[in-house]
Parts: sequence; C-alpha cells; structure tokens
Amino acid sequence: MHVHSTYSDGAGTLAENLRAAEDAELAALTCVDHVRRDTDWAPAFAEEVRALGEGTEMDVRSGLEAKIIDTSGELDLPADTGGADRIYAADHRVPLDDGPADPAAVRLAIGRGETDPAAVVESIVTATANAVARRPNLVIAHLFSVLPKLGLDETAVPQESLERLAQAAAESGASIEVDERWRCPSPRALRAFHTAGVPILLSTDSHSPETIGRYDYCLGVIEELAA
Ligand SMILES: [Zn+2]
Ligand SMILES: [Zn+2]
Repeated sequence: MHVHSTYSDGAGTLAENLRAAEDAELAALTCVDHVRRDTDWAPAFAEEVRALGEGTEMDVRSGLEAKIIDTSGELDLPADTGGADRIYAADHRVPLDDGPADPAAVRLAIGRGETDPAAVVESIVTATANAVARRPNLVIAHLFSVLPKLGLDETAVPQESLERLAQAAAESGASIEVDERWRCPSPRALRAFHTAGVPILLSTDSHSPETIGRYDYCLGVIEELAA
C-alpha cells in the first residue's frame, strides 16, 4: 500500500513500481501520489493505474494523497479526483483553525511558550476527525508523523482523543495505515482503531521501487497488536 511514482515525488514510474511489486510477490499494490488543489493529472493517473491493473493478477488500486488544511478537515485536493479509489489524508503541515502551519514555526512557538502543545495536538486530532467525517472511505495517512517535527511524541495524545478519532473513522468507513517510512502511528494508537473496527493498512510509503514490499516496523506493530 501507498507507493509513490514519478507522478509526484517517487523515483519509479507506475510500470516500474508494478514490476517491483510483482517481483516481491505482493497480492496488492496501491499507487498513491501527492496532489494539491491545482493538480490537473488526477484523471490521467487513475486511468493509467486502471490500465496497469488489467495486465496483472495483482489487485492494483489508485490513491491521491492530500494534506489536511485546517481543523474543519478540508483537504488540499483537486475538484476532479479522476475516480481514484482512495483518498489519503496526511498531516504534512499542522492543521490549525486558520490553515496549515509550518511545523518548524509551530515548534519554535511551543519552545517559546507562545503555543500550548496540548492545543496543537487537539487541533491535529480534530482536523483528522473532521476530514474522515466529511469524506467516506478515507485513508488516514501516517497519523502523527508531524509530532516529532514539533518536538512532541504520541504520548502527548490523550487516550480519549485517540478513541474519539477512532470512533469517527469507524463511523465514516475510513481506514488507517501503519507507515513504514515514518514508523507511525504507535501500537497504542493503532489499538484504539483496531478496537473500533477500523481496518489497518500496511504501507511502505515507498518513494523508490527498492522499498516496495519491504516491511519491518509495520510487521513489528502488527505482531504486537496480535499479541
Ligand atoms: Zn505523506
Ligand atoms: Zn506518501
């Protein structure tokens, strides 16, 4: 799941990624690329992924990855998503009430005591919960990957916030990924989603064909959850 191509910042073409997935004997491949509001290639991308899927036994899907803009849960997504199978909502910035903030600036503000870290965590949780509520079938991408950029970690997320977010995901039919590249979220966070019945996807978040199907962190997390 979650493999980038030359459509955005991946090194491999869609065809090269498919070949790597076949070599790794994967059952499924989800091709995901970064978009913004002004992205115009989404229909061509979805069509190319569909065509690739016709030539293989593998279950090939398309996804678009967009950042969460603000606490209303709005996404930086083009109007025409071209029929992509999934939308991935990502915390690439800090989604605040008035828009996406630069993580480095928020980290500085926290360090200076100008910003309350608990309020920032609450904004991220609320933004993500509203994103899943606004759009069915969303994938929550590398949840909490932004926290280390703020000098925080997942222990800053209250259990009740996790459970509220997991409940919102369950109600809207969202999935959550465990992300090999960002090594998040933690087993503790995923347990809340698993308990709420939210499907967990194993994503390499590959940016080059060599890492497709190579799981380490993800498998450790799944083993911990299974135990
Ligand atoms: Zn991302
Ligand atoms: Zn990604």
